[in-house]
Amino acid sequence: MEKPKICVVGACNLDLISYVPRLPALGETLHGTRFHMGFGGKGANQAVMAAKLGGDVTMITKLGQDVFGENTLKNFQAWGVKTTHVHFTDQAFSGVAPIAVDPDGHNSIIIVTGANDLLTEDELEAARADIAAAQIMVCQLEIPMDINLKALQIAREEGVKTIFNPAPARPQLPEELYQLSDIFCPNETETELLTGMPVGTLEEAEAAARVLLERGAGTVILTLGERGSLLVTKETRELVPVDKVKAIDTTGAGDAFVGSLAYFLAQGKPLMEAMKRANRIAAISVQASGTQTSFPEAKNLSSELL
Ligand code: ADP
Repeated sequence: MEKPKICVVGACNLDLISYVPRLPALGETLHGTRFHMGFGGKGANQAVMAAKLGGDVTMITKLGQDVFGENTLKNFQAWGVKTTHVHFTDQAFSGVAPIAVDPDGHNSIIIVTGANDLLTEDELEAARADIAAAQIMVCQLEIPMDINLKALQIAREEGVKTIFNPAPARPQLPEELYQLSDIFCPNETETELLTGMPVGTLEEAEAAARVLLERGAGTVILTLGERGSLLVTKETRELVPVDKVKAIDTTGAGDAFVGSLAYFLAQGKPLMEAMKRANRIAAISVQASGTQTSFPEAKNLSSELL
């Protein structure tokens, strides 16, 4: 059987994590106790998630000609993500996130988007045939808005279904972006910021989702952490609960959900069924530490999960 095809347009970031006895003061040089490098960027995470489940995934992104870019490319190759449209630039370094974490888990994070900002419309045009060949295209908010809009326009012209994950949270988005999103998939914080409405109860979450529908999104799926995910369309509201698990590290849960939702929809699963399965995969990911490292692989999953 042919593998489901997914195209992800988005960012790559290298998380550079220093564990420190306390966060440094202004002008201070401090010795850390441990260092960890992790592959990140929401686009990269979602692409790797879909590939780990068995998807035929094409990543469209830009990296710097540096050690981070080289390693990110190798990571994609290791997971079988297609890298024809992974571009390199000498005009900026790869996206990085230097992070300091103290023993209480408090952190300070700097994100430098770098090469992610330099993906061009021409490079998206050059990927048109691969976007057109996919069943699902996914975008997030870590690359410039006009590039997201261009990608969504190409998908619409080519009749490819889109998932838009409006992360990281920001208060406003252009109307066109909602209209070009077949599935608009925010988490609780993103929904609150976009609508100015609370999502504490299911009724509140539904009301907020309806505002997003009115702005033009085709279907809204809210991820509600340990409550699961909520489907809201013009006609219906359905909560898809997630199994109760012992969460160890919820970093990247949203990316695990979006990447697996893309995979299951590309496989042809109905929406509710795809959400149920994406919930299960995301719930597995929160039971291990790390981001991409916590995403399960098809070979370790029972067949009824896939
Ligand atoms: P984000 O990581 O963007 O904040 P959420 O917290 O909404 O996103 O999590 C995304 C999905 O991950 C949820 O819809 C759910 O399926 C799963 N998930 C998150 N936290 C938990 C948890 N504590 N227990 C079980 N599943 C979880």
